[in-house]
Amino acid sequence: MNIKWPKTVTELHVHLGGSVPLYRLWEIAVDRGIRGLGKGYEEFIDILQIQDGKVKDLDSYLEVYDTIELIQSGPTAVRESVIIAIHRAFRTGGMPLVGRGGESGSPEPLFHIGRLELRFNPLKRTGAVFLKGKHAGLYDVDRVIRAACDAVEEVELAFGGKIRAGLIFCFGRDMDLAANQILAEKTALWAEKRQSIIGIDLAGPESKNPLSSKDALSQMKEVFNSVPKRLGKTVHVGETKHVTLDTFIKTIEALNPSRVAHPIAVFSPYWDKKDDRGLKLLKERKIVCELCVKSNLLTQGVPDISTYGRMISTLDDFEIPYTFSTDAPSLQGTSLAQELLMLLDAGAATPEQILRALKTADESTFLGTNF
Ligand SMILES: [Zn+2]
Repeated sequence: MNIKWPKTVTELHVHLGGSVPLYRLWEIAVDRGIRGLGKGYEEFIDILQIQDGKVKDLDSYLEVYDTIELIQSGPTAVRESVIIAIHRAFRTGGMPLVGRGGESGSPEPLFHIGRLELRFNPLKRTGAVFLKGKHAGLYDVDRVIRAACDAVEEVELAFGGKIRAGLIFCFGRDMDLAANQILAEKTALWAEKRQSIIGIDLAGPESKNPLSSKDALSQMKEVFNSVPKRLGKTVHVGETKHVTLDTFIKTIEALNPSRVAHPIAVFSPYWDKKDDRGLKLLKERKIVCELCVKSNLLTQGVPDISTYGRMISTLDDFEIPYTFSTDAPSLQGTSLAQELLMLLDAGAATPEQILRALKTADESTFLGTNF
């Protein structure tokens, strides 16, 4: 493929839970004596890797995260995970091929990921099992946040400026208001002290809390508005059919993000019924769409790669900016390079569209464009 890749690129949508290569996660699990993860390495990978046929929707895709969040709980594990995740991006993010557990890769990367936004929910690294309705975890969330910020600073120092990274804290659709408010307070407190915290997000199962009721939405709006203004805002919304176009629009209006993750809900109403309200809203507000191709195919949010191509050209028709990211490279056994090549090989995106998306990522990162 005749394409002149930039030397370094920006990846702005990856979750910490999906960014530690499985072979490293296995080593951590062995070291800590964690149970219930199969009998040996191969079985461990079978349990954690998200593959075609194993996942049927976003809810089953997210189940794996529950296990990983427990492995990554506590300040020590968070520090280790952040350091590994940033290294993974730099080393293998530009490689067209990676091993099943994320090992090694192609000897010649197409590019390096030099700017990385890493997102996670600090409360879900306290050892608390939110799905079972408990809030108080084993570990202190302040220590977890401090450890993550320290890890970012350590890596940036070690790389002498060749890599920049920032943290986005994800509020949870599966956490109640009280828990999200605690996270907002902690975010405000730590964002004053540490520049490594660059933004906020809303993530988790849309089935659990689609924000379709007025109350649920105004509660989340309050949470979003209580963090410092300097933080960037992005939102996972419209990834599944649980979010209708009306709810998508109301969510954008209430939470006022400058970027949106997986806005799949805007396309069908336009294609099937010429309802372009969602697309027009994205255009008017100059919202950048964070597209994660393989993730959306695995959750069956998008049925096939040719539909992805149609989404990309619809965004271009409306002059809506978009970027490409991997979401969970380690769990999906993929890399940014691999996903971009997949789009090119399938004819779902042109080299021009890919390069423009990479430039958009450089320009819309919450890290600032000072590089
Ligand atoms: Zn995501």
